[in-house]
Amino acid sequence: MYDVAVIGAGPGGATASRYLAKKGLKVCMIDKDTFPRDKPCGGGFSEGLLDEFPYLRKRANEFLKGVARVGVLHSPNRRIVLKGSVDMAVALRTDFDNVLFESAVEEGAEPLVGIRAKSVRFHKDHSEVTLKGSESIKAHVVIGADGVSSMVARETGLNRRWPSSMITACRVAEVPAKSNEIIDRYTENLNYHFYANLGGLPGYGWIFPKRDTINIGLGIVGTHAQGLPRVFDAFVQHLKRENLLMQDADLSKAKGGLVPTGGPLSRSYVERCILLGDSAGMVSPITGGGIAYAMRAARYAAAVLTKVIEADNFGSGILGEYEKIWRNDFGDTFKDQLLAQKIFTSPFTDLLFEIGKRDEKIQEMVSEAIAESAEEGIDVKKLILRTIFVCFRASFRL
Ligand SMILES: Cc1cc2nc3c(=O)[nH]c(=O)nc-3n(C[C@H](O)[C@H](O)[C@H](O)COP(=O)(O)OP(=O)(O)OC[C@H]3O[C@@H](n4cnc5c(N)ncnc54)[C@H](O)[C@@H]3O)c2cc1C
Repeated sequence: MYDVAVIGAGPGGATASRYLAKKGLKVCMIDKDTFPRDKPCGGGFSEGLLDEFPYLRKRANEFLKGVARVGVLHSPNRRIVLKGSVDMAVALRTDFDNVLFESAVEEGAEPLVGIRAKSVRFHKDHSEVTLKGSESIKAHVVIGADGVSSMVARETGLNRRWPSSMITACRVAEVPAKSNEIIDRYTENLNYHFYANLGGLPGYGWIFPKRDTINIGLGIVGTHAQGLPRVFDAFVQHLKRENLLMQDADLSKAKGGLVPTGGPLSRSYVERCILLGDSAGMVSPITGGGIAYAMRAARYAAAVLTKVIEADNFGSGILGEYEKIWRNDFGDTFKDQLLAQKIFTSPFTDLLFEIGKRDEKIQEMVSEAIAESAEEGIDVKKLILRTIFVCFRASFRL
């Protein structure tokens, strides 16, 4: 019998497995894919993540494809361009996730890869995970780190299905490019771009230049996502016209992906089971970024489960400690970000850019939130106050 069965070996599952195994617990890490594997993603995150998880810093040369230093924001009507200097690390997910996976295995987590977990059941004295092919394994506790379409969230009743308004559908391509093609277009600073509400639909397009690829993507919120293929093609054509993309750019490997951008589930645990990362909706509603949240939650989950296993008490009361800790750390930021999502996807976004153009402080606040580098996330109240202040200042010519 395992102490913990971790379902999903992405950033959340692999991080939890690593910390649990390091504590000497018997952990199995199940993934339907074999590693290295690709995950549709922009691959951007705050460079501070490498300090939070120092074992990553040591192997950064294996996945880090540069630090993009200047964010460029384009208004929906494309008339206004705001810039902010905020660093964002850019990586290839295939390599990043593989380093996380290997780090977990090195610490002693047992990989069970290339096999899908079909169901979970919870009994009085253990949990049971049934794998494809009907083999099953037993563990004291299960971690559901199986992404946006989590089987564990469904089976536990924590989330039967995301409502479409809480999902952003994406299309993304990692376009191979030569170093000079990248520097000519994005400078040595690797300027990264965001395009608000492309095609008049709520969401945004992005370009994250990396050392030898240009990551281009588009996400559209909720039912509006039907327009995704059409708007993505138009976005690519626009980038070619603006010479931000080579005429012969290879987009043949463009992929689709989903992100839960409606905020976290109201509850992330039941007896003998916890959820983390995308399965629990721990994703920024403004940027769709979730790597850092998944990894932080995983570290908290490992700390709580270590205590739970020592105490031989798997009740939901003691597991509730996990939810308290992660909400205490980053739970509040989601409320602000949801509000900011509503503001940034509203018909007033062009007006906000107009106001932001006049004030460096607003540009700084928005750039930080978009690059996921703000320590506390976006402070919507401060942003609104600052916006009102700028309006007053303009009307009274202060
Ligand atoms: C297009 C796109 C762009 C994004 N860009 C960014 C970005 O730039 N920065 C950022 O921070 N975030 C970004 N995100 C979000 C980010 O990818 C996720 O938040 C992050 O991967 C969450 O990690 P996770 O471990 O929770 O889940 P995942 O990374 O999704 O890992 C889940 C794992 O579970 C496995 N799995 C699923 N079901 C089963 C099953 N039944 N049995 C066994 N294994 C299973 C999967 O194979 C997968 O390996 C983006 C997402 C998308 C779709």
